[in-house]
Amino acid sequence: MIDIKNLCKDYDTVRALDDLSLHIDKGEFIGLIGPNGAGKTTLLKALMGLVRPESGAIAINGMNIWEKPVETRQLTGYSPEPPVLYDYLTGYEYLQFTGRMRGMNGKNLGDRIADLMQEFALQDKAAELIADYSHGMKKKIAIAAALLAEPLLLLLDEPTGGLDPEIIFSLKKLLVKLHGQGTTIVFSSHILETVEKLCSRVVMINKGRLVADDSITNLYQHYGNGATLEDIFIARVKN
Ligand code: ATP
Repeated sequence: MIDIKNLCKDYDTVRALDDLSLHIDKGEFIGLIGPNGAGKTTLLKALMGLVRPESGAIAINGMNIWEKPVETRQLTGYSPEPPVLYDYLTGYEYLQFTGRMRGMNGKNLGDRIADLMQEFALQDKAAELIADYSHGMKKKIAIAAALLAEPLLLLLDEPTGGLDPEIIFSLKKLLVKLHGQGTTIVFSSHILETVEKLCSRVVMINKGRLVADDSITNLYQHYGNGATLEDIFIARVKN
Protein backbone atom coordinates (compact mmCIF):
# COMPACT_ATOMS: atom_id res chain seq x y z
CA MET A 1 0.00 0.00 0.00
CA ILE A 2 2.85 2.37 0.90
CA ASP A 3 6.42 2.23 -0.26
CA ILE A 4 8.80 4.91 0.99
CA LYS A 5 12.39 4.90 -0.20
CA ASN A 6 15.25 6.90 1.30
CA LEU A 7 13.10 9.91 2.16
CA CYS A 8 14.87 13.09 3.30
CA LYS A 9 13.07 16.30 4.23
CA ASP A 10 14.74 19.49 5.51
CA TYR A 11 13.17 22.61 6.99
CA ASP A 12 15.99 25.16 6.67
CA THR A 13 18.71 23.69 8.88
CA VAL A 14 16.51 20.99 10.48
CA ARG A 15 16.56 17.50 8.95
CA ALA A 16 13.02 16.33 9.75
CA LEU A 17 13.22 13.03 7.82
CA ASP A 18 16.57 11.37 7.42
CA ASP A 19 16.93 8.63 4.79
CA LEU A 20 13.70 6.97 5.90
CA SER A 21 12.53 3.83 4.10
CA LEU A 22 9.34 1.96 4.96
CA HIS A 23 7.09 -0.62 3.35
CA ILE A 24 3.49 -1.04 4.51
CA ASP A 25 1.31 -3.83 3.16
CA LYS A 26 -2.40 -3.54 2.43
CA GLY A 27 -4.53 -4.04 5.53
CA GLU A 28 -1.82 -3.27 8.10
CA PHE A 29 -2.67 -1.22 11.19
CA ILE A 30 0.38 0.86 12.00
CA GLY A 31 1.06 2.90 15.12
CA LEU A 32 3.51 5.68 14.30
CA ILE A 33 5.27 6.79 17.48
CA GLY A 34 8.27 8.90 18.44
CA PRO A 35 9.19 11.82 20.70
CA ASN A 36 8.12 15.42 20.02
CA GLY A 37 9.78 16.67 16.86
CA ALA A 38 10.66 13.14 15.66
CA GLY A 39 9.15 13.75 12.21
CA LYS A 40 5.78 11.93 12.47
CA THR A 41 3.67 14.83 11.16
CA THR A 42 6.20 15.51 8.42
CA LEU A 43 6.05 11.88 7.33
CA LEU A 44 2.23 11.92 7.16
CA LYS A 45 2.30 15.24 5.28
CA ALA A 46 4.86 13.82 2.85
CA LEU A 47 2.53 10.85 2.17
CA MET A 48 -0.18 13.36 1.24
CA GLY A 49 2.22 15.35 -0.96
CA LEU A 50 1.91 18.37 1.35
CA VAL A 51 5.66 18.72 1.83
CA ARG A 52 8.15 18.15 -0.94
CA PRO A 53 11.08 16.01 0.14
CA GLU A 54 14.70 16.84 -0.73
CA SER A 55 15.20 13.30 -2.00
CA GLY A 56 13.62 9.87 -1.97
CA ALA A 57 10.39 8.46 -3.35
CA ILE A 58 6.90 7.61 -2.13
CA ALA A 59 4.46 5.26 -3.84
CA ILE A 60 0.89 4.57 -2.74
CA ASN A 61 -0.74 1.48 -4.22
CA GLY A 62 2.16 1.29 -6.68
CA MET A 63 1.74 4.91 -7.91
CA ASN A 64 4.33 7.63 -7.36
CA ILE A 65 2.52 10.34 -5.37
CA TRP A 66 4.10 13.15 -7.43
CA GLU A 67 3.26 11.58 -10.78
CA LYS A 68 -0.28 10.53 -9.77
CA PRO A 69 -1.34 13.09 -7.13
CA VAL A 70 -5.09 12.86 -7.78
CA GLU A 71 -5.21 9.06 -8.05
CA THR A 72 -3.19 8.51 -4.86
CA ARG A 73 -5.15 11.12 -2.87
CA GLN A 74 -8.42 9.55 -4.00
CA LEU A 75 -7.38 6.38 -2.18
CA THR A 76 -6.46 8.22 0.99
CA GLY A 77 -8.27 9.83 3.92
CA TYR A 78 -6.12 12.20 5.99
CA SER A 79 -6.83 13.91 9.29
CA PRO A 80 -4.11 16.45 10.16
CA GLU A 81 -3.05 17.74 13.58
CA PRO A 82 -3.99 20.48 14.19
CA PRO A 83 -7.17 20.06 12.13
CA VAL A 84 -7.22 22.28 9.03
CA LEU A 85 -10.80 23.25 8.15
CA TYR A 86 -12.80 26.16 6.70
CA ASP A 87 -13.94 28.30 9.65
CA TYR A 88 -16.84 29.93 7.80
CA LEU A 89 -18.53 26.73 6.72
CA THR A 90 -20.79 24.80 9.07
CA GLY A 91 -19.72 21.27 10.01
CA TYR A 92 -22.39 19.87 7.68
CA GLU A 93 -21.31 22.12 4.79
CA TYR A 94 -17.67 21.12 5.27
CA LEU A 95 -18.51 17.41 5.06
CA GLN A 96 -20.76 18.07 2.04
CA PHE A 97 -17.96 20.02 0.34
CA THR A 98 -15.41 17.29 1.12
CA GLY A 99 -17.77 14.58 -0.14
CA ARG A 100 -18.42 16.40 -3.41
CA MET A 101 -14.68 16.89 -3.92
CA ARG A 102 -14.42 13.11 -3.56
CA GLY A 103 -17.12 12.53 -6.21
CA MET A 104 -19.94 11.73 -3.77
CA ASN A 105 -23.41 13.27 -4.03
CA GLY A 106 -27.14 12.88 -3.45
CA LYS A 107 -28.60 10.45 -0.93
CA ASN A 108 -25.40 8.46 -0.67
CA LEU A 109 -23.52 11.54 0.57
CA GLY A 110 -26.38 12.73 2.81
CA ASP A 111 -26.70 9.32 4.49
CA ARG A 112 -22.96 9.00 5.00
CA ILE A 113 -22.75 12.48 6.59
CA ALA A 114 -25.71 11.65 8.86
CA ASP A 115 -24.04 8.39 9.98
CA LEU A 116 -20.72 10.09 10.74
CA MET A 117 -22.41 13.02 12.52
CA GLN A 118 -24.14 10.46 14.73
CA GLU A 119 -20.96 8.40 15.26
CA PHE A 120 -19.09 11.49 16.45
CA ALA A 121 -22.04 13.04 18.35
CA LEU A 122 -22.03 16.12 16.15
CA GLN A 123 -25.70 16.25 15.13
CA ASP A 124 -26.45 19.23 17.39
CA LYS A 125 -23.51 21.16 15.95
CA ALA A 126 -24.11 20.39 12.26
CA ALA A 127 -25.53 23.84 11.48
CA GLU A 128 -22.97 25.84 13.49
CA LEU A 129 -19.92 27.52 11.97
CA ILE A 130 -16.67 25.63 12.45
CA ALA A 131 -15.17 28.90 13.78
CA ASP A 132 -17.36 28.41 16.87
CA TYR A 133 -16.34 24.76 17.45
CA SER A 134 -14.10 23.63 20.30
CA HIS A 135 -10.78 21.95 19.41
CA GLY A 136 -12.32 18.50 20.03
CA MET A 137 -15.27 19.24 17.75
CA LYS A 138 -12.91 20.43 14.99
CA LYS A 139 -10.93 17.24 15.43
CA LYS A 140 -14.08 15.15 15.09
CA ILE A 141 -15.10 16.93 11.85
CA ALA A 142 -11.57 16.42 10.44
CA ILE A 143 -11.68 12.68 11.25
CA ALA A 144 -15.22 12.37 9.85
CA ALA A 145 -14.01 14.08 6.64
CA ALA A 146 -11.11 11.61 6.38
CA LEU A 147 -13.51 8.67 6.75
CA LEU A 148 -16.24 10.07 4.49
CA ALA A 149 -15.31 8.44 1.17
CA GLU A 150 -14.37 5.11 2.82
CA PRO A 151 -10.72 5.33 1.72
CA LEU A 152 -8.48 2.30 1.32
CA LEU A 153 -5.77 4.12 3.26
CA LEU A 154 -6.33 6.20 6.40
CA LEU A 155 -3.64 8.55 7.70
CA LEU A 156 -4.53 9.99 11.10
CA ASP A 157 -2.25 12.43 12.90
CA GLU A 158 -2.85 12.12 16.66
CA PRO A 159 -6.53 11.27 16.14
CA THR A 160 -7.42 10.89 19.81
CA GLY A 161 -5.89 14.23 20.92
CA GLY A 162 -8.60 16.53 22.32
CA LEU A 163 -11.42 13.97 22.07
CA ASP A 164 -13.53 13.05 25.09
CA PRO A 165 -13.28 9.47 26.43
CA GLU A 166 -16.61 8.36 24.97
CA ILE A 167 -15.64 9.49 21.46
CA ILE A 168 -12.17 7.94 21.82
CA PHE A 169 -13.91 4.66 22.67
CA SER A 170 -16.17 4.91 19.57
CA LEU A 171 -13.24 5.92 17.36
CA LYS A 172 -11.15 2.96 18.52
CA LYS A 173 -14.07 0.60 17.82
CA LEU A 174 -14.56 2.16 14.39
CA LEU A 175 -10.86 1.81 13.52
CA VAL A 176 -10.88 -1.86 14.56
CA LYS A 177 -13.93 -2.39 12.34
CA LEU A 178 -12.30 -0.63 9.36
CA HIS A 179 -9.13 -2.65 9.87
CA GLY A 180 -11.27 -5.82 9.86
CA GLN A 181 -12.73 -4.69 6.53
CA GLY A 182 -9.26 -4.36 5.02
CA THR A 183 -8.53 -0.62 5.38
CA THR A 184 -4.85 0.19 5.82
CA ILE A 185 -4.46 2.53 8.79
CA VAL A 186 -1.46 4.59 9.88
CA PHE A 187 -1.95 6.74 12.94
CA SER A 188 0.49 8.73 15.00
CA SER A 189 0.03 8.87 18.74
CA HIS A 190 1.73 9.62 22.02
CA ILE A 191 -0.76 7.33 23.79
CA LEU A 192 1.23 4.12 23.84
CA GLU A 193 -1.56 2.08 25.49
CA THR A 194 -3.79 2.83 22.48
CA VAL A 195 -1.05 1.79 20.06
CA GLU A 196 -0.44 -1.38 22.09
CA LYS A 197 -4.14 -2.28 22.03
CA LEU A 198 -4.96 -1.49 18.41
CA CYS A 199 -1.97 -1.88 16.15
CA SER A 200 -0.51 -4.89 14.43
CA ARG A 201 2.80 -3.12 13.91
CA VAL A 202 4.73 -0.28 15.51
CA VAL A 203 6.89 2.15 13.54
CA MET A 204 9.03 4.30 15.82
CA ILE A 205 11.02 7.25 14.54
CA ASN A 206 13.47 9.56 16.28
CA LYS A 207 15.21 12.56 14.71
CA GLY A 208 13.70 11.61 11.36
CA ARG A 209 15.16 8.10 11.41
CA LEU A 210 13.51 4.73 11.82
CA VAL A 211 14.51 3.31 15.23
CA ALA A 212 12.06 0.41 15.53
CA ASP A 213 9.73 -1.32 13.10
CA ASP A 214 8.14 -4.58 14.14
CA SER A 215 4.98 -6.28 15.34
CA ILE A 216 4.06 -5.65 18.97
CA THR A 217 4.53 -9.39 19.65
CA ASN A 218 8.07 -9.41 18.23
CA LEU A 219 8.99 -6.25 20.13
CA TYR A 220 7.80 -7.81 23.40
CA GLN A 221 9.69 -11.04 22.67
CA HIS A 222 12.84 -9.11 21.83
CA TYR A 223 12.78 -7.04 25.03
CA GLY A 224 11.39 -9.85 27.25
CA ASN A 225 10.65 -9.76 30.99
CA GLY A 226 7.19 -8.23 30.59
CA ALA A 227 8.48 -5.08 28.85
CA THR A 228 5.77 -2.59 27.88
CA LEU A 229 5.76 -0.38 24.81
CA GLU A 230 6.70 2.49 27.14
CA ASP A 231 9.87 0.63 28.22
CA ILE A 232 10.72 -0.11 24.58
CA PHE A 233 10.04 3.52 23.58
CA ILE A 234 12.34 4.86 26.28
CA ALA A 235 15.08 2.34 25.44
CA ARG A 236 14.96 3.08 21.70
CA VAL A 237 14.78 6.84 22.00
CA LYS A 238 17.80 6.96 24.34
CA ASN A 239 20.03 5.25 21.77
P1 ATP B 1 5.18 16.16 17.69
O1 ATP B 1 5.07 14.80 18.34
O2 ATP B 1 5.73 17.19 18.63
O3 ATP B 1 3.90 16.60 17.02
P2 ATP B 1 6.42 15.27 15.19
O4 ATP B 1 7.06 13.96 15.41
O5 ATP B 1 5.11 15.27 14.50
O6 ATP B 1 6.34 16.05 16.56
P3 ATP B 1 7.29 17.15 13.14
O7 ATP B 1 6.19 18.11 13.38
O8 ATP B 1 7.24 16.33 11.89
O9 ATP B 1 7.49 16.15 14.38
O10 ATP B 1 8.67 17.95 13.18
C1 ATP B 1 9.91 17.38 12.84
C2 ATP B 1 10.99 18.46 12.92
O11 ATP B 1 10.77 19.40 11.87
C3 ATP B 1 10.99 19.25 14.23
O12 ATP B 1 12.34 19.56 14.54
C4 ATP B 1 10.22 20.52 13.88
O13 ATP B 1 10.65 21.61 14.67
C5 ATP B 1 10.60 20.70 12.41
N1 ATP B 1 9.53 21.36 11.63
C6 ATP B 1 8.29 20.85 11.40
N2 ATP B 1 7.58 21.68 10.61
C7 ATP B 1 8.38 22.74 10.36
C8 ATP B 1 8.23 23.95 9.58
N3 ATP B 1 7.10 24.19 8.92
N4 ATP B 1 9.28 24.79 9.54
C9 ATP B 1 10.42 24.53 10.19
N5 ATP B 1 10.64 23.40 10.93
C10 ATP B 1 9.64 22.53 11.01
